[in-house]
Amino acid sequence: MHAHKGRQARPLAERFWEKVDVRGESECWLWLGSLDTRGYGTIGANGGRPLLRAHRVSFELEVGAIPDGHVVCHACDNRACVNPRHLFAATQRENVLDMVRKGRRHSSAGDRNPSAKLRSDQVIAIRHDRRRSREICAEYGIASSTLLSIKRHETWRHLP
Ligand SMILES: [Zn+2]
Repeated sequence: MHAHKGRQARPLAERFWEKVDVRGESECWLWLGSLDTRGYGTIGANGGRPLLRAHRVSFELEVGAIPDGHVVCHACDNRACVNPRHLFAATQRENVLDMVRKGRRHSSAGDRNPSAKLRSDQVIAIRHDRRRSREICAEYGIASSTLLSIKRHETWRHLP
């Protein structure tokens, strides 16, 4: 199957799986290749560039194409894990809600400000919240002017 490839780049799937510590179905499969600064595995696309995130490659190889506007998340919270059973595609908003539910906290300028009423993860969730302003304000206990400035990126500018 891999014959006659000569010195050409080998298929991504082949290069990918030789760098995975494949274990039992429910265990984390750690990426043995390089990790980026945030702890996600990376692998070069065919030809070396661009660098792809290993867990996204695993998802695309084993599950299917990542739907538009979706990110690939870890159910196990282990960024170096590429077990496709631990990966799921979610919108950025779902991902944020998942992080909030798991109680993961992101340190950022706003969080360190003791007068800040909202955490970064809440601000991001608010920006992706498609409900009526009234409902969002009620849930977070903020004024509609505060909501507007968050949505317009006038405040919390460092957040996506
Ligand atoms: Zn895992």
